[in-house]
Amino acid sequence: MPEKNSQTPQLPHTMFINGEKTPAAAGKTFPIYNPATGQELTQIPDASETDIDHAVQTSKAAFDSATWRRMPPASREHLLLKLADLIEQHTDELATLETLNQGKLIAFSKMLEVSGSVQWLRYMAGWATKIEGTTFDLSIPFPPGTRYNASTKRVPVGVVAAIVPWNFPLLMAVWKIAPALACGCTVVLKPAEETPLTAIRLAELAHEAGFPPGVFNVVTGRGETAGAALVKHPLVNKVTFTGSTEVGRIIGRQCADDLKRASLELGGKSPVIVLDDCDPKKAIEGAAGAIFFNHGQVCTAGSRLYVARSIYDEVVQGIAAVADGITLGSGFDAATQMGPMVSARHRDKVMGMIAHGKLEGGEILSRDAAVDADGFFVRPTVIANRACKPLSVVREEVFGPVLVAMPYDDIDEVLAQANASEYGLGASVWTNQLDKALRLVDGLEAGTVWVNTHNMVDPAMPFGGFKASGIGREHGKVIVDSYTESKSVCIAY
Ligand code: NAD
Repeated sequence: MPEKNSQTPQLPHTMFINGEKTPAAAGKTFPIYNPATGQELTQIPDASETDIDHAVQTSKAAFDSATWRRMPPASREHLLLKLADLIEQHTDELATLETLNQGKLIAFSKMLEVSGSVQWLRYMAGWATKIEGTTFDLSIPFPPGTRYNASTKRVPVGVVAAIVPWNFPLLMAVWKIAPALACGCTVVLKPAEETPLTAIRLAELAHEAGFPPGVFNVVTGRGETAGAALVKHPLVNKVTFTGSTEVGRIIGRQCADDLKRASLELGGKSPVIVLDDCDPKKAIEGAAGAIFFNHGQVCTAGSRLYVARSIYDEVVQGIAAVADGITLGSGFDAATQMGPMVSARHRDKVMGMIAHGKLEGGEILSRDAAVDADGFFVRPTVIANRACKPLSVVREEVFGPVLVAMPYDDIDEVLAQANASEYGLGASVWTNQLDKALRLVDGLEAGTVWVNTHNMVDPAMPFGGFKASGIGREHGKVIVDSYTESKSVCIAY
């Protein structure tokens, strides 16, 4: 599967700290790859504790200098809007970098990563001028004759450490930095070691837009070293993390020890529930989209399918046929419908989980998942689990194009099965029966429940997980609370 892109942009290969392109102090680097070819793309700085300290000190100095947090909110808004414009102007470059480094289809890089980032920045920019407190009357009776004027104001939380995964590299970075910067915080962002390119360009573009040096820094490095050093740095006031539940637990423990604020957006094992009135064609299309979008590398991927027994075979066989018809290849090739997994390690993990599912008694309905190519491809896979066994692919997040499908007989049974998961990120219900849809919406333990759609997100709609899928919510009005502290002011007169 040859790489078809001929107009490769310049590949960023330094961190971005204090408004400057910055290599690692010790000069160490590590390779990043093109997952569609398996070839090395470039070398990226492997940040050590020293580099992380430099970035955090820089960010702290920028916060303390108050040029950012005391800047008129409308000026912060203006800069965020300017960054959105610059991203839009660099759509082709950013989308190409994303597809080269992450493997997703170029149309999705443009539409979701770049346009999505622009949309989120513009929405969040608006919050900069709308952060407000409340005033209230107090009942303190002394000293006699004294009255009080009391209010709250929201102040930026301080230096934010933002750590993001590799599935939507640019968009996840913007989901963190846009609200943090709108609220007046300064940021050190660490992209995933697999996919740092667009995050570095994002910081360079922010500098070009006129953000003061040190307000937004990007460090590159490995999770256990650079990421861990960032989380435990004493000058970091808040950690905002998106990634696996396993790493979220480590970060949550460290933040609890340090009494740092933390928001955690973690893994998922989202159920898709098809009721018996659903048109099988619509169910096939919806459920296939819910799992195969972004090659299944989506935290809300609809990876557990529950179909009413009367239409189970038709729907599940139909999804297997969709899977078998999907063309794999380079994200730059117009004929490609699904790109590679992000890394060789991740491909091996996904292949291992498919093999394990089969060993445990799952019936593979689709073609062999193995692909003979240099890139890290896995064919979309549908596993029938008619006996509803507690297979590992039912319990554990695969984070790849792997669907496991179970039949059910009644709504209480399917609700219990859907909720029998440590995760609670997303869920979808496919039906036109309003009463049953609302019963499921009520009963499902998930941060987002979609009806007759799946995976849809919007900057105005809060997003986050129940249970082991995380703590806190991103987007919407609630995001302001996440990057600010409430300060009460009490004036005697
Ligand atoms: P990951 O947890 O392995 O890594 C995520 C980030 O954490 C990377 O930048 C990594 O370098 C860093 N990291 C790793 N170990 C660390 C440590 N000890 N200390 C600090 N940082 C560390 O996750 P991944 O494989 O990159 O991404 C896939 C996971 O992300 C899936 O579980 C997926 O569900 C989840 N995800 C969740 C959401 C959401 O909004 N809930 C969105 C996208 C992805």
